[in-house]
Amino acid sequence: MAKTAKTAAPQTRWAWVEIDLAALRRNTHTFKSLLDRGVKLMAVVKADAYGHGAIPCAKTMLSSGADQLAVSTVDEGVELREGGIDAPILILSEPPIDSVDVLIAYDLMPSVFTSDFALVYGEAAAAAGKIGRYHLAIDTGMTRTGIRWDEVCDLRAFLDFHRGLECAGTFTHFATADEVSDWDFTLQLKRFNSAIDALRAEGFDPGIVHCDNTPGTILHPECHYDMVRVGIGLYGLHPAHTTIPRIELAPVMSVRAKVTRVVWPEVGDGVSYGMHYRVPRRNIQIATIPIGYADGLSRTLSGNMPVLVKGLRCRQVGSICMDQCMFAADVNSVRAYRPISSIEVGDVVTIMGADGDDAITADEIAELRGTINYEVVCDFGLRLEKIYV
Ligand SMILES: *Cc1c(COP(=O)(O)O)cnc(C)c1O
Repeated sequence: MAKTAKTAAPQTRWAWVEIDLAALRRNTHTFKSLLDRGVKLMAVVKADAYGHGAIPCAKTMLSSGADQLAVSTVDEGVELREGGIDAPILILSEPPIDSVDVLIAYDLMPSVFTSDFALVYGEAAAAAGKIGRYHLAIDTGMTRTGIRWDEVCDLRAFLDFHRGLECAGTFTHFATADEVSDWDFTLQLKRFNSAIDALRAEGFDPGIVHCDNTPGTILHPECHYDMVRVGIGLYGLHPAHTTIPRIELAPVMSVRAKVTRVVWPEVGDGVSYGMHYRVPRRNIQIATIPIGYADGLSRTLSGNMPVLVKGLRCRQVGSICMDQCMFAADVNSVRAYRPISSIEVGDVVTIMGADGDDAITADEIAELRGTINYEVVCDFGLRLEKIYV
C-alpha cells in the first residue's frame, strides 16, 4: 500500500507548511552543476524566501553551493544579518534614500540607478569610514527599474568621482527569459552586452556581471556571465513549461492540516458562508480543516480544489473561510475508483504536496487560481507555521 502523509503538526495549530531542506539542498546542487567553474550562484531569498522562510533556507543554500544572496527590501536584508548570515547580500532595487545608514550598518549592497541615491549613500559610507559597495542596475527593456542601457557610462563617470562608492556588480533583468528564441529577450541581451562593452571601453570596471534569473539560467547558458540569480528554481518549481524538459527539480514546500471535526450531514444540509454547497446524497462526510484564505488558501479556490487524504483526492466544498474550510469525503462510494474509508479527527490532509501515489502541485493550484506558482508559495508562507524536515 502507498505511504500516506505522516508528519508532526505544530503544538499550537493543526495547519502548517512543511519545508524539505534536503530537497532545497538538491536543487541548489542541481543549479550549481549547470554553471561553469567560477560562475557564482546568487540565491534569491526575497519575500521570506518565496514563503519558505528566509533564514533556514539561506543557510541551507549557502552551505550547499550558493555564494551570495538577494532580497527585495532593506528589512529582509537586516533579518538575514541578524540571523547570523555574513554572505554578500544584494537588494534588488534601489531602496529609499533614508535607508542609507541601515545599509551601511548591516553591510547590505543596494542596487543603484540614480545619482541622488548614490551620492547620499557614498557620503554616509565615507562618514562611517567604509566603502559603499553597490550593483548598478540597468534597464534594458523591462521598464521596471535601472538606468537606461545607453546612459550607464554617464552615470558611472559621475559616481566614480566619489571616494565612498565602489561598483561591485552590474546587472539587468529579463522580461521574457522563459521564452525560447524570443525577440525581446535577444534585444535586451544585446543592449546589456553593449552597455557592458561600453563601460569596459571607457575604462570602468563593471564588477560582477549578471543577468540570468531561473529561466535564463536554464535556457540561456550563453549569458551566465559571472553570476546567476536563481529564485523559484531553488524552491523546486519551474518558472514556465519551457524549462520542465531541461532540468529535474524537487518541490520544497508542502502544506498540510489535520481534520478538526467530522460530521455525517443530512442530505440537503448546507456548508459554509452562503451555503453554496448542499450535501447531495447519503454517505458523504464533511470534514473541517483549520486553514483558510488568511493562510494563503485563496478564496477563489472555493468549491474548486482537491485535497489529499490517505493518498486519495477529496473535493473542497463550500466557501473557504478566513481560517478554516471544509471538504467532502464520499465514503465507500460505489462511484469512486478507490473508495475512501471514513475520515476521523486528526487525519492528515495535504493541501499541497505529495501523499501516497498522488501529489497536488503548486502549478495545479496556480492554474485553478489563475496565477503562477510564485504567488501560491508566497501566500502560503504568510501566516502558517513552518516545520523544517
Ligand atoms: C525575483 C528576481 C530574480 C529571481 O527570479 P526567479 O524567476 O525566481 O529565478 C532575479 N533577479 C531579479 C532582479 C528579481 O527581481
